[in-house]
Amino acid sequence: MFDIDYGSLWGRGIRGLIFDLDNTLCPWRAPALDEATVRLLEGLRARGFRLCVLSNGRLEGRGKVVEDLSRRGIPLIYPAGKPLPFAFNRARECLGLSPSEIAVIGDQLLTDILGGNIVGFHTILVEPLDPHEHPWTRFVARSLERLLGRRVRRRSAPAGGDRGYPGGHRPPGSRRDRRG
Ligand SMILES: [Mg+2]
Repeated sequence: MFDIDYGSLWGRGIRGLIFDLDNTLCPWRAPALDEATVRLLEGLRARGFRLCVLSNGRLEGRGKVVEDLSRRGIPLIYPAGKPLPFAFNRARECLGLSPSEIAVIGDQLLTDILGGNIVGFHTILVEPLDPHEHPWTRFVARSLERLLGRRVRRRSAPAGGDRGYPGGHRPPGSRRDRRG
């Protein structure tokens, strides 16, 4: 999330950013946002971005995270039921922007990215901040992501890198090349 080129998003007409919470803005179940994240959010807003946070969590016992966002006037919608479109549409209304002006930033292909694509927003998959995740995510969603092809998450992967597809010739060890 820190290494996204927000200037280039702005240049491409993105005016609203919808962040996932757990493992995108903070480690899973973190009680508060850290200083650097708060500075990033404030900096983005100072640049003119409108911000919103969508979490599938129930956020029990995480009043500080809720407060960190609400004190800064950043809408937080939870539990969001991603990838269903309802919360994404609510977020769009909060932002007051059209789908082509909104980017979703999250660590999960099957919630953040799938949901964002369903409603026609731009989507940016980031590496999860922390190896700890909800057990459902860890064992079910991540296995499905691997089946679907984790390589879509490599924003920084060289374009046209020909790693081959299942059934093709694969360089030795490439099945195990994913980080984390
Ligand atoms: Mg997440």
